[in-house]
Amino acid sequence: MTAFWTEPDFDDHEHVQLVRDRASGLTAIIALHSTHLGPGAGGTRYWHYPEPKDAIRDALRLSRGMSYKNAMAGLPMGGGKAVILADKSGEKTQALLEAFGDTVNALGGRYVTAEDVGISEADMVTVSTRTRYVSGLPVSGENAAGGDPGPFTAMGIYHGIKAAVQHKLGKSSMDGVHIAVQGTGSVGSGLARLLARDGAKLTLADIHADRAAGLARELGGEAVSTDTIMGVQCDVFSPNALGAILDDEGIARLQAPIVAGGANNQLARQGHGAKVAERGILYAPDYVINAGGIISVAMEYLAKRQGEPSDINEVRKRIAKIPERLQEIWQQSEETGVSSDAVADGMAQKLIGR
Ligand code: NAD
Repeated sequence: MTAFWTEPDFDDHEHVQLVRDRASGLTAIIALHSTHLGPGAGGTRYWHYPEPKDAIRDALRLSRGMSYKNAMAGLPMGGGKAVILADKSGEKTQALLEAFGDTVNALGGRYVTAEDVGISEADMVTVSTRTRYVSGLPVSGENAAGGDPGPFTAMGIYHGIKAAVQHKLGKSSMDGVHIAVQGTGSVGSGLARLLARDGAKLTLADIHADRAAGLARELGGEAVSTDTIMGVQCDVFSPNALGAILDDEGIARLQAPIVAGGANNQLARQGHGAKVAERGILYAPDYVINAGGIISVAMEYLAKRQGEPSDINEVRKRIAKIPERLQEIWQQSEETGVSSDAVADGMAQKLIGR
């Protein structure tokens, strides 16, 4: 393992753990950025990284993002993230998930896990056989919070996109508003369905081309290649795949006045937020707009810890507040000339005592 504390993304993380379990083949990194507001909460990513260094970078960046996200969503939770390194075959065994559950358990509640890319609700059920510090489990009753956070994340992005369209384009209806959605997995497909219901025009792309094509057929949109999606002339570019897509080249390709989507860490580097702003593009900071899933996960977890039933209406109410936070950020950004990502970072840092 490289010296993680020399990585540019190291930000005085409280705890960074390399996990290796020979018997199950588990190799993972658990990063706790801040537990100032509560236990470090954030999902587990299962991904094949050609370079181990990229996995460390992801864990550091994603866990800091969770500190900011949870703080900005008003949750009593800190920020953490786990990354499980998939081998090339991508095989995810029960033993591997159980070993991961044991590791989470050994942290004694300092880290609370849930789903992220490559991890399903069924996987979390397996993890939960070894630890109670887990959320995103199947819904346990009528009107209870919980389950796959993807649809809740999509709901928050949907509210956020509507707010952005109102703010930047002065439109209160989504009818005919053109959205280019990059990634049609759990979040992207849920978002596309909500937007289609409002009459938005959709252009979709996914590295699994059949996924985007099938959804386009279902919703009456158009599927394009992953190479072209970022340059589609449209009203909103919505990234819902992987991070770091807003680099110099990506930003130059954008043909949309708004970028608003669920992917974590969309900006390749900190200065890229200013570059997006220089092009006159309204940017919805990723960890603010994509907080719907963690709101659901946190409400489920907190209710369970208190032995009370969770309430899906409380989750919906909190998610509906995401646009308020975005408006506050955009307003401050316009008043100060500081890019929206930097405004959000400043607000979040203050909340976590940094
Ligand atoms: P997912 O695995 O269900 O879907 C991701 C989709 O993106 C897949 O269909 C994949 O084929 C596609 N994809 C990957 N690379 C691509 C590329 N270069 N171009 C186009 N498509 C590509 O994951 P998800 O849960 O939908 O999460 C999507 C993003 O949102 C991730 O960045 C994740 O970290 C973030 N996010 C998810 C949640 C959640 O609740 N699931 C919450 C917050 C943030």
